[in-house]
Amino acid sequence: MHAQTHPIATEPAIATYQLTSWHYGSAGSGGKAYIQASLHADEVPAMLVAHVLRRELERLDAAGRIKGEIVLVPAANPIGLSQVVHGMPLGRFDLGSGVNFNRAFRHVADELKATLTGRLGADANANVAAIRAAARAAVDGWEPTNHTEVLKKTLLALAIDADIVLDLHCDNEALLHVYTGTALADRVQPLATLLGARALLLSDVSGGEPFDEACSRLWWDLAAHFGPGIPIPPACAAVTVELRGEMDVRYDYAEHDAQAILQYLAREGLIDMPAAAAAAAPLPAPLCTPTPLEAVEPLNAPQSGVLVFLKALGDEVKAGDAVADIVDPVTGNTATVRASRDGLLFASTAHRHLLRGMQVCKIAGTTPFRSGSLLSQ
Ligand SMILES: [Zn+2]
Repeated sequence: MHAQTHPIATEPAIATYQLTSWHYGSAGSGGKAYIQASLHADEVPAMLVAHVLRRELERLDAAGRIKGEIVLVPAANPIGLSQVVHGMPLGRFDLGSGVNFNRAFRHVADELKATLTGRLGADANANVAAIRAAARAAVDGWEPTNHTEVLKKTLLALAIDADIVLDLHCDNEALLHVYTGTALADRVQPLATLLGARALLLSDVSGGEPFDEACSRLWWDLAAHFGPGIPIPPACAAVTVELRGEMDVRYDYAEHDAQAILQYLAREGLIDMPAAAAAAAPLPAPLCTPTPLEAVEPLNAPQSGVLVFLKALGDEVKAGDAVADIVDPVTGNTATVRASRDGLLFASTAHRHLLRGMQVCKIAGTTPFRSGSLLSQ
């Protein structure tokens, strides 16, 4: 086990930032997993899960039970963690640029389509190795123009060649849910099951270039580009894990979630945990089946006012059901927000006064109906 310190901002006249990554096992001795917590810096449950993971990974590494390499970044956004305005932590957007910290990651597929032409063949393993080397070089060539881009480049460089990437977030108020690529559904389902996820949301392109897709989407983009004669598997299982809501910071949750992640890594061959983790070990019953992200219905406030929920997280709603009221406190006019299709109420805002157009909640259905940018702002 060793730590690496990555300078993010070092100019002498301003605040400095650095990032710390913990490395367990040894690089090149097997697979690689990369885990980061709280890229959105005000999504705190992830950092407590990372705290438990660090304790367990130290113990496992000391016992020689890490197979390959596991990289843990327990606080992935030192810039966001330092943003406090009038006593309010603001960690989702870079206050300097307004850019969401989990958007605008460099997507290297187009560059690799050019650099890898003529260099891939019929051997899938050789293709994976060549693509990882080219992807590392492409990220290395990213020339950041500000400190937040330095941070994004540093995170992506740590993760781009991993077999498994877990980006740990949370929602405002939510059940535990998971986002991943459509091609990764079968591989990620055991993780969702071990975590007890209530929704496993799939997309090929969710829009906005989030971190997990910067690691995973290049594989299916390149497979589509080079065609069936050149085998390219979806070699990076990149997942965004939403660890319930912002206030769900509890030791019991963190212990449960960390153990689920460790068991998943064991099933993937990265940890020697024979009692819990052989690939053949039975999984608990899944709490959800994979559904398309295009089938998630976001409901928005039709007017400004006080938000009163009529349904609770975890409720199965039917098309036409009243989910919430928005009460104008001056006139008394009350607008009822209704679901337009069936689904599971799995996430909601943490605010109880909304302006017109703000998001009330999200409902996971099963039939795709949306397109374009599929993620929240
Ligand atoms: Zn987030």
